Amino acid sequence: MSQRDYYEVLGVSRDASQDEIKKAYRKKAMEFHPDRNPDNPDAEARFKEAAEAYDVLRDDDKRARYDRFGHAGVNGNGFGGGGGFHSAEDIFSQFGDIFGDLFGFSMGGASRGPRAQSGADLRYNLSISFRQAAKGDEVTLKIPKKVTCPECEGSGAAPGTKPETCSRCAGRGQVRQSQGPFSISMPCHACNGTGQFISSPCPRCRGAGIVQEIKELAVRIPAGVDSGNRLRLRGEGEPGIHGGPPGDLYVVITVEQDKTFRRHGQDLIVTREISFVQAALGDRIEVPTLDDPITVEIPKGTQNGEIFRMHDYGLPSLGYGANGDLLVEIVVKTPTKLSKRQEELLREFAQLEDDKPMTKAKNLFKKVGKAMGVD
Ligand SMILES: [Zn+2]
Ligand SMILES: [Zn+2]
Repeated sequence: MSQRDYYEVLGVSRDASQDEIKKAYRKKAMEFHPDRNPDNPDAEARFKEAAEAYDVLRDDDKRARYDRFGHAGVNGNGFGGGGGFHSAEDIFSQFGDIFGDLFGFSMGGASRGPRAQSGADLRYNLSISFRQAAKGDEVTLKIPKKVTCPECEGSGAAPGTKPETCSRCAGRGQVRQSQGPFSISMPCHACNGTGQFISSPCPRCRGAGIVQEIKELAVRIPAGVDSGNRLRLRGEGEPGIHGGPPGDLYVVITVEQDKTFRRHGQDLIVTREISFVQAALGDRIEVPTLDDPITVEIPKGTQNGEIFRMHDYGLPSLGYGANGDLLVEIVVKTPTKLSKRQEELLREFAQLEDDKPMTKAKNLFKKVGKAMGVD
């Protein structure tokens, strides 16, 4: 696309004054403004073209170079070849002050009046027991929350009255202030930028339209959650401002430690102590799970620190991956006190171990077991 002459773009003569250039640009910008020409790429191109032309012609130095060398004189400033401005937002951020009083608050947006804002997100720290995390639960949160005032339904005006349009800014929430050749838009002090004036404020919210309330909220805790998991409750944050959508509530979970189980991802670890006799001869031991206890077979010759994995007895997955396992960690306990009989038998055992026949040693070991109350 070949570049058009900047004076032609703005429709001004080559000796136009700064004031004429500014007025011409504002006229073009109004005409091709994206809000007025939705989904019209041609208008958008013209809008950008006008912004480029204005950017050069409003600057005496750039304008002089342009007059002498044409487009080549101002290339390299980012404005050659139709580049420079990528979007309407670019242009607004560059020339926002001269649009301010053209479009009021609606720079880039089509709505009139104060701009709608989303409400703030809230965070709630929730501590739950290990059981609640493992099995899931429903809890009721009590959340101090700003809600739309029920008395005035958010208008801020006392019941039976209505907010009036602010006379200072004519309801736009912004006032124009001249500064040299530019006029700058500023929030209206009389109405704090709301565009409205409330002569008799609502007694309940004192005109704010919002009151603080304790809201009870039922929250479903999915089974398998872990510390640091966040539950997002859409729309349960603070209310939006000027009709904007409410924020979200994030419930951040902390799971308390359990006395029985340690946790490793979705796996559970439980430690069981067995005697050295049980370790040597093997045994069946009872192991707690999240539900009823189960019996775990300890094979002969189990070593201290050995781990037995019970599939699927861990925590449920949170919708991805498999359920966890239960890891039974064995601690072999060495007796600290022996009866005379036990000690005798053990000494005999030690001797047998020295001069072999293992079967005899095993039988003796069983006797030791009996003496210690293990079958
Ligand atoms: Zn109220
Ligand atoms: Zn006002």
